[in-house]
Amino acid sequence: MLVVISGPGGVGKGTVVARLLGRDPRLWLSRSWTTRSRRPGEAADAYVFVDRPAFEAHAAAGGFLEWAEFQGNLYGTPTPEAPPGLDVVLEIDVQGAEQVLRRFPDALFVFIDAPSRAVQAERLRGRGDPEAKVMQRLAVAEAEAVAARRLGAVSVVNDDLDAAVAALEALVADERARSG
Ligand code: 5GP
Repeated sequence: MLVVISGPGGVGKGTVVARLLGRDPRLWLSRSWTTRSRRPGEAADAYVFVDRPAFEAHAAAGGFLEWAEFQGNLYGTPTPEAPPGLDVVLEIDVQGAEQVLRRFPDALFVFIDAPSRAVQAERLRGRGDPEAKVMQRLAVAEAEAVAARRLGAVSVVNDDLDAAVAALEALVADERARSG
């Protein structure tokens, strides 16, 4: 089973995914590479932080399952090497999800969204994103929601955190039962 989770910045996607992983020991989260610099307070292992030449060399060598440029930075999923018996979870943008869909049409695609763009803006400001970045991210969020619907992703609204985690858990349980 492959679970692909997308959603605009500031919807609490990372928190929902972390909770899900804490509750389901059979899930394994792939760690992405990025050319973005580390945010203040961000964990050192949130990504593999690399420069553009290192990223491009890895891409040229076929080392990524998918990769995409998002707001001027490159992000990529290294070819997953999950321990045996564990299901892979990818937290990636919708362009990456479209690439995964082409290779793995049976994967479970989930789009986590905020209850409204106003709530999303407050969350982005709350984590210290500069105002210009907040505006940029709001502008792409709606396009991301449209793209997610086009690829058939199931939508989960993160209004109440516990409810969002429970909804995601239920989707994973259904998919596990379906894919055996
Ligand atoms: P952030 O800079 O906020 O950590 O991430 C920006 C966007 O890049 C988010 O939508 C996040 O899901 C996405 N992202 C993170 N890792 C990957 C990846 O490996 N591949 C792709 N395509 N997008 C990613």
